[in-house]
Amino acid sequence: MTGARDVTDMDCPLDDLASWQRPLRAQFPIIGDHPELAYLDSAATTQKPQAVLDAMQSYLTTTNANAGRGTYPWANATTALVERTRERVKEFLGDPAPDRSSVHFTAGTTDGLRTVARDWLTAFLTDGDEIVVPYADHQANLSPWLEARELLARQGVGIRVRELPYQETSGDYDPAALAGLVGPRTRFVAATHVHHVYGNDMNVHRIRQVVGPEVPICLDAAQSVGHMPVSVADLDVDFVVFSGHKALALPGTGAIWARGTRGPRFRPGGWSGTPNTVGIAGLAAALDWLETAGPDRIARWTSALTSRLTDGLQRLAAYDVLGCQLSLAAESPTQRRTSIVTFRHHEISSGDLGFILFSDGFMVRSDSHCQAGTSDTEGSVRVSLHVHNTPEEIDALLATLSNLQ
Ligand code: PMP
Repeated sequence: MTGARDVTDMDCPLDDLASWQRPLRAQFPIIGDHPELAYLDSAATTQKPQAVLDAMQSYLTTTNANAGRGTYPWANATTALVERTRERVKEFLGDPAPDRSSVHFTAGTTDGLRTVARDWLTAFLTDGDEIVVPYADHQANLSPWLEARELLARQGVGIRVRELPYQETSGDYDPAALAGLVGPRTRFVAATHVHHVYGNDMNVHRIRQVVGPEVPICLDAAQSVGHMPVSVADLDVDFVVFSGHKALALPGTGAIWARGTRGPRFRPGGWSGTPNTVGIAGLAAALDWLETAGPDRIARWTSALTSRLTDGLQRLAAYDVLGCQLSLAAESPTQRRTSIVTFRHHEISSGDLGFILFSDGFMVRSDSHCQAGTSDTEGSVRVSLHVHNTPEEIDALLATLSNLQ
């Protein structure tokens, strides 16, 4: 059959990477302590490897002080830690020009996107400008841009917000439709790297080709940083915003990386106060850990687990997997899902399904997932994976789901 791959040709990441994955799983104490449970909610927040816990413990028991506020050794060490971690973020994101860019620590992606909107976008736009933003991604990547429009309107500056178009056939953004709405007044595009409900890689590298060299692009990388390689050089975006807690570090941490070459320089307004120094120590350790593990291998591992899950769900008639159906087919013409799969049972509500799954030890997310533009109160169950998850967990989950048919 034309195009069909011989089974012997197929790379089997779950076999190839098993000996790489096993010791990594062993480094998550909470996972090792609960062999009866399967944590399948890493898109909500990630578990932490021992190295991250150790880095925070070590910081708090050796040089804990405020940053940039004193001249004694602990204060100097804390200031150096914060500055070093800024450089670490740049390096982790493959920043080709770290002297020009800047990193600002935030409480997470929601805080980061709001800061870009309030402190940078509103200073950049003028009357009649247009921006293009996603209307069916996470609410955190829509509200800040609509709030910016309102803020500007109160100052007498009218801007137009347009919807970043999606392709029905593949579930990612539609470059041809985007080309049709980009014009001389288009000044900014906001996009999401990986969709938090459907797990699609949104193919954001194509946006630069469509909008040309001048338009700043802001990327919500909440579901990609820590899960797969993220290269600002390859993507040619201007802002990367992510949450530390989804990248193996603590809640209340995150960062905005700003390229600093398109539009005004990014300077967060207001008095910044004391940074989350212990969280920053954890973030630095998390990025080190991820780099050693290898974001590329993490992505191959979790994508292979995701395929195993979607293939299994396709065989269970009682369930519908949400999102673009073409990207689910084993011989899909488009890329398959990354580490996230969301589905519904035809008869069991998502809330009940969440409870039932937990009674067999599976921790999943069941609700409406903070997706913008969904009036859908029915909810669904989301399974999201990280490097500690195993094929055995996926098979056990499928067996439980199958018994509920
Ligand atoms: N964007 C996406 C794509 C997300 O998945 C999330 C978290 N679910 C957010 C933004 C918000 O992140 P946080 O809650 O860490 O601010």
